[in-house]
Amino acid sequence: MGETYKEFHRRSIERREAFWAEQAALVDWHKPFGKVLDYSRPPFAQWFVGGETNLCYNAVDRHLKDRADQKALIYISTETNQERIYSFRELHQEVNRFAAVLQSLGVAKGDRVLIYMPMIPEAIFAMLATVRLGAIHSVVFGGFASHSLAARIDDAKPKVMVTSDAGMRMGNKIPYKHLVDEAIRLSRFPPEQVVIVNRGLDPQMPLTPGRDLDYAELRSRHMQAEVPVVWLEASEPSYILYTSGTTGRPKGVQRDTGGYAVALAASMKWIYCGEPGETYFSTSDIGWVVGHSYIVYGPLIRGMATVVYEGVPIRPDPGIWWKIAQDQRVTVMFSAPTAIRVLKKQDPAYLKKYDLSSLRHLFLAGEPLDEPTAQWISNALGVPVIDHYWQTETGWAILTAVPGVEKTPVKFGSPSFPAYGYDVRLLHEQTGEEVGPNEKGVVCIVPPLPPGCMSTVWGQDERFVSTYFSSFKDRLIYTTFDWGIRDQDGYYFILGRTDDVINVAGHRLGTREIEEAISTHPAIAEVAVVGVADPLKGQLPLAFAVVKDAARIATPEACQALEKEIMAAVDKQLGAIARPSRVHFVTQLPKTRSGKVLRRSIQAIAEGRDPGDLTTLDDPAGIEQVKAAVAAAKA
Ligand code: AMP
Repeated sequence: MGETYKEFHRRSIERREAFWAEQAALVDWHKPFGKVLDYSRPPFAQWFVGGETNLCYNAVDRHLKDRADQKALIYISTETNQERIYSFRELHQEVNRFAAVLQSLGVAKGDRVLIYMPMIPEAIFAMLATVRLGAIHSVVFGGFASHSLAARIDDAKPKVMVTSDAGMRMGNKIPYKHLVDEAIRLSRFPPEQVVIVNRGLDPQMPLTPGRDLDYAELRSRHMQAEVPVVWLEASEPSYILYTSGTTGRPKGVQRDTGGYAVALAASMKWIYCGEPGETYFSTSDIGWVVGHSYIVYGPLIRGMATVVYEGVPIRPDPGIWWKIAQDQRVTVMFSAPTAIRVLKKQDPAYLKKYDLSSLRHLFLAGEPLDEPTAQWISNALGVPVIDHYWQTETGWAILTAVPGVEKTPVKFGSPSFPAYGYDVRLLHEQTGEEVGPNEKGVVCIVPPLPPGCMSTVWGQDERFVSTYFSSFKDRLIYTTFDWGIRDQDGYYFILGRTDDVINVAGHRLGTREIEEAISTHPAIAEVAVVGVADPLKGQLPLAFAVVKDAARIATPEACQALEKEIMAAVDKQLGAIARPSRVHFVTQLPKTRSGKVLRRSIQAIAEGRDPGDLTTLDDPAGIEQVKAAVAAAKA
């Protein structure tokens, strides 16, 4: 009998270095590493010390030998009705052209390239071209508005930005270049050049001579380009990806090169069970961590074709994903629970219309997967549906089933077990002691974090330690900021965040960021934002705002008008994904005597639950106002 998953996991912890040295053989090294792990400066872990490799080489070049003419990138847009397929040879060519363009603009090792793009192949060429040069990409999700983009520009200080004239969603044009112009105006460290992939969607797009450059024109000068790969030491950064936390300032999650390549290659084999030559379809967006790991790098490193889908799950009809899965003979799919809940509301006939015999697994992540949704999709597809739990910080799964090692039964509502390499513990919030079976604790990881996880916060080593490793006194333990329990069989269940981070349709948002955006409105004195349970999107942000001048909310019409203005302010600052579902006006927020807003009580009231311990409340009027506002909204 083969190794059980339990044994496999134990080996990954007890014989950590031998385990990962074995996995490292799944990627190509220009120079072999000398040491598997250097953990001499906890909690900073350096994997595969001295080894030299390159993500682009592993994702593209190394496949030219065996699969140059096989599909690498399958672009399908139901927004522009386009389909383009690139073989590994063609992908290699396009990446070299883009690399030559970036090089001609002075981009070299260590420089940052900020990519703000819709889901088009050029976005992926740009990412791969950047890492080919040893430069560092920072992809910003296209749904973020100019203020968010400006904050990311100022933190990453990119030499070059790559964008497009526009994106498309539900048949509507979404301007990108206009937002980039606005963000550059707001930023203190603007890029020297902006490369624009012009899709011909926005003829009115303004151009700044000298700064803005047309990609097609630049590309035409480098058609035969062959740009040598820049080899990086395994710990050198490949990319920065910003994520929300409890402060208003997003954190730049910094990823290494060698550890990430190995972690992804191993996950493709053990977790996703994808084989070279097959097709992987992740419905995420390149702006999120899932897009980085499992639209771009993971499948390509494995020698699989990856589907790049520009569109929504219900257009032209709710069968579109399954049609793609059928037509492309997809073997592995990856999506998010919200999308499945959307599909659950549609005619089930769409799921039966297509031949899904190629599909082996559907993986879901990003937010809690409720049992009825898990049950529904699992029955409908007839293949294992695997919920797995991870974070931008980790880059790959923390809790998951690992069918490539053992096909353990799935329990609906549970992302199964700790992934190999992760020493997961559930700790009591205050004492830091391990909790027993079926007791709630904070999901923590005993460092060193395995390969692929963030190496630090970009430019802020201190913040890496103070944010993630300082929850327990005298001990360096990584905190996920999620509550969890483990049942008597060892299955984990995630119960929600311990902090003020909320999850809207699988997108992570900091309530503090939304509060800051609302506070930019001149009429607002103070505001509290909480996440409220929503049957479709998991959570929705809800705002309680105190106005400076009561005259602004004297009539219901005035309230409505102000609410609209506030929503528009959030759209403009952060993007529509962060827009509160409602803004309730109150004259006072519930606070403790030390002035802390009682967010957990506000959230409980908004969800119709008991507000909990109110003994620390400074003035009962605040909580009464929240109750009244919620009751009025229901009425
Ligand atoms: P992000 O970094 O945006 O991927 O968000 C990570 C957070 O999403 C986690 O800390 C969890 O709160 C939540 N999350 C991700 N995957 C799952 C899952 N499978 N079940 C429950 N929550 C999840």
